[in-house]
Amino acid sequence: MGLPIICLVGRPNVGKSTLFNRLSHSRQALVSDFEGLTRDRQYAEVLLDNDTQTFATIIDTGGLTNKNNLVDSSIQGQVLNALEESDIIYFIVSSRDGVIGLDLEIVSRLRKLKKNIILVCNKAEGLNPALAAEFFELGLGEPMLISAEHGQGIADLIDTTLPLLPKVTIDEIVEVEGITVAVLGRPNVGKSTLINRILGQERVLVMDFPGTTHDSIYIPFEHEGQKYTFIDTAGIRRKRSTHEKVEIFSIIKAIDALERAHVVILVLDAQVGVIEQDATLLGMIIDKGKALLIVINKWDGLDDYQKQEVKRKLEIKLSFINYASVHYISALHAFGVGKLFTPINQSYQNAGEQHSTSVLNKILEKANQDHQPPPVKGRRLKIKYVNQTDVFPPTFTFHGNHLQNVPNAYERYLKNFFINALQLTNTPIKIKYKSSD
Ligand code: GDP
Ligand code: GDP
Repeated sequence: MGLPIICLVGRPNVGKSTLFNRLSHSRQALVSDFEGLTRDRQYAEVLLDNDTQTFATIIDTGGLTNKNNLVDSSIQGQVLNALEESDIIYFIVSSRDGVIGLDLEIVSRLRKLKKNIILVCNKAEGLNPALAAEFFELGLGEPMLISAEHGQGIADLIDTTLPLLPKVTIDEIVEVEGITVAVLGRPNVGKSTLINRILGQERVLVMDFPGTTHDSIYIPFEHEGQKYTFIDTAGIRRKRSTHEKVEIFSIIKAIDALERAHVVILVLDAQVGVIEQDATLLGMIIDKGKALLIVINKWDGLDDYQKQEVKRKLEIKLSFINYASVHYISALHAFGVGKLFTPINQSYQNAGEQHSTSVLNKILEKANQDHQPPPVKGRRLKIKYVNQTDVFPPTFTFHGNHLQNVPNAYERYLKNFFINALQLTNTPIKIKYKSSD
């Protein structure tokens, strides 16, 4: 079981994403320091309560809807999937608009889920609380009056939420062994085929593995003496059953799998290319700082011209992610599959390696020689030394003066310099600063 999940739901324009931003930015969000596709982030892991160290995953269901058909899709498909997995639903209405028909419709559907629902009445700044009485007609009890924009009522909302969250106990955590590899991708890209192909050739250590969270399956196995646990988000077991359920693209499964993974394999479909859901997954992987292999599956069935076209388009679409290696395979025809183990092992090793302070400082010296930190606001940035403060991903803390002002471009330069100098493949690195001024 991962973190408790809180879903924000409501019709368009009530302030879901404003509340999401308020919760994820004003609180300590775990995911905040990675660059990448964070603009449209739909989920965040948030420290709700410092005293009890209570974390939760919050999901903005507004971000999950098909934007062309907001009303209809506001509670369908992906959203429904997220809601079913959630522990608490914040149903958000706007105190400016009062109760409208669509609110009633959404409530009647939410009720069927039998979840804890907290009625959140947003845009309540300057509102006479007596005017909120009309929201009682929704039958969800007393509305929590908040202003997401102005940050009012948020503490009370969290106080109401905390007792409703399930307690995560330690024995619910699945024991995993060896290198943990999450296989992620949209439905139908070939995840199950790939996993079956890999397992077909290897010894699966346990046949009936009990560890499933949010429908993912943990598969321990061994290859050339190395232990692995694959996290299968497609669920090969379920697919073998006669009542084959159509897999719904599940953000929650992906979040869970990502939490556990040392290395991620993102499977894309060569015949389709990179589409929105792929980009969503990529954004999440980058946010989490995971080591990444991008696997382009279904490489069979394309002629040479098509292959070139696919490569050209992928290069453009994936240009912002500079650390992942790209592998062209056909899971169905067992082409390229065996070659994945070397980069998996290497990614694991690189993401988990601890580098000595002396090695890092030699690299820093060289980086400084080649390219001095620029002056910012007339002051010279001074980086005195660097040490490694974490692994998965390797995290380097730079110590010096005025480092809070390091420009993005220089940070990118440092990152690339260190990645090259340490010959890291497939893993991102994270940079932190400790300034003595
Ligand atoms: P969503 O479609 O539900 O995600 O709604 P948004 O978060 O995009 O907000 C819709 C509009 O309502 C935006 O113009 C926000 O600035 C505004 N808004 C959000 N929260 C508040 C609030 O607390 N008070 C007021 N007055 N406006 C708000
Ligand atoms: P999942 O939903 O990501 O687990 O995808 P599946 O493994 O169930 O595969 C979806 C479909 O794509 C199935 O019909 C597979 O046979 C097909 N498929 C998987 N890998 C390949 C491949 O390498 N080439 C081709 N042509 N089809 C494939």
